[in-house]
Order: sequence, then structure tokens, then C-alpha cells
Amino acid sequence: MTQRIALVTGASSGIGRATAVLLAENGYYVFAAARRMHRLEQIRSDHIEPVELDVANEDAILGMVNHVILTKGRVDVLVNNAAYGQLGAVECVSMEAAHRQFEVNVFGYARFMQAVLPHMRAQKSGRIINITSILGKMSTPGFGWYAASKHAVEALTDAVRGEVMEFGVDVVLIAPGLIKTEFVPKQLELLNTVTHPPAYQKIITGLHHLLAGEPNAPGPAVIARAVLDAVTSSNPPVRHALPLDSKMAV
Ligand code: NDP
Repeated sequence: MTQRIALVTGASSGIGRATAVLLAENGYYVFAAARRMHRLEQIRSDHIEPVELDVANEDAILGMVNHVILTKGRVDVLVNNAAYGQLGAVECVSMEAAHRQFEVNVFGYARFMQAVLPHMRAQKSGRIINITSILGKMSTPGFGWYAASKHAVEALTDAVRGEVMEFGVDVVLIAPGLIKTEFVPKQLELLNTVTHPPAYQKIITGLHHLLAGEPNAPGPAVIARAVLDAVTSSNPPVRHALPLDSKMAV
């Protein structure tokens, strides 16, 4: 049987790393992308090939996909996962930081879809898994820019699904609730870079309170398993939100 080829973004930690490893354990050859090459090197194996890139760099993405096609001849799975959370009150996050949030979380996903779709259409097969968030369907104080980016990904995903289904390409949304990874510590670090007037203190305290549940949240394996199910199922879900018992979503 032809070996299945997968691309996973944000594979240097958390959900992306767990997904890359699980797909490799299940017979996929995985191109694992992120910026921190030293972290990717930790998972390099016969089935995992690290690729250093920033998802904001379109040339790097096109270069990666060309490399995949030149060396493997096909691309079966794209897992769009690389993202981060720019927290802070909408009024207080700089427009520069807001643009960067969309550059990575939205345009990063879009660039990868644009790069792989011509190949998937030509193959008449392929599966794209976009990792969003429960905040892809709701929003709450302090999460405005991040939630807006995830809403945008949901809208693009639903459109692309309809556009490519007749070419044999399936597009799935996986929307995690709170998961224990590096994500929340990084969010809190970014929150500290935003200056809020004292009037917003209640909202900032609320954010810290919500995110304090992270140490008790499930690990990334639960999402990696959902991705594996979505890429192997003959009838993949359109949108899978989990874990359902999550006390809170980010
Ligand atoms: P992590 O912070 O552990 O992982 C994020 C990954 O994205 C890292 O590998 C990071 O790699 C990569 N990344 C970030 N920015 C870029 C960039 N510009 N270019 C390339 N890679 C980048 O977080 P999670 O694993 O938790 O997050 C994965 C996904 O899950 C995200 O889409 C997130 O929105 C979503 N999610 C997470 C939740 C949670 O509670 N953890 C809840 C809901 C959704 P590097 O820094 O090396 O580039």
C-alpha cells in the first residue's frame, strides 16, 4: 500500500507534537513544521521529518509543500494547528499585535490550505484538519482577538469544505476546550505585555481565574487521538468539539 503522507504544523509542542508522533506510530510519514528546530529534532525518526518554518512566511510554506511533493509525490493529510493566543481587552491590544494574531492563526492556516489543495485536487483525495477552539463559536471578555481569529478559521473551513468536497477532499474542524500544553503559559506571558487601565482589572482577574484550571485539564493526547480518528474515518466529522467535560474553553 502507498505510504500516507501528512503535514503537521506547530509540531514542536503540545497538540501538534502529540499528533505528529501518533500519526507516525500509525504508519504515516509526517513532515513536522514549527519555528523551534531544536524541539522538532527531539521527535525526528524514520517517520518524522522536521521542517523549520514560520507560518507567516508564504515562501517557506510553498517551499515545504514543493519538497513534500518532490520527495514523496503526494500529500494526504494537512493538520493546521500552529497558533497562539493574544489575550487582552480588545481596546488595549495594539493593532500590530492584532494583525500578528491573524497573520499566524488565520493566514497561516489559509496559506497551507492554498499550498496543498492543488495537489489534493489532482490526486482526487486528501484530508485537511483545522484545529480551532471552542472559542471558534463563542467569545468572552479578554479573548476577543484570539476568538475572532478562531471564528475566522471556522468560516474559512466551512467554505473550503463545500468548495472541495467534489474533488474527494474532506475538511474537518477540531475544536479543543482547555488542554494542558505550553499554550496557557504563553497566553499569560503575552497578556503581561498588554497595558490595561485600572478599570479593566476585573476582566484581567477573571482571565487569570479561568486559565487557572489548566493544570487539571487533559493533555494533548486526547486531541491527537481525535485527529487520528478524523484522518482515518471513512465518514469524518464536520466539527468535533472536545473534551466535552471541559470547564472552560480557550
Ligand atoms: P502550544 O503552544 O503547545 O503549541 C503551539 C505550536 O504552534 C508550537 O509548536 C509552536 O511552535 C507553533 N507556532 C506558533 N506560532 C508559529 C508560527 N508563527 N510559525 C510556526 N509555528 C508556530 O499550544 P497547543 O498545542 O495547545 O495549541 C495547538 C492548537 O490548539 C492551537 O491552534 C490552539 O489555538 C489550539 N487550542 C489549544 C487549546 C489549549 O487549551 N491548549 C484550547 C483550544 C485550542 P514554535 O514556537 O516552535 O514555532
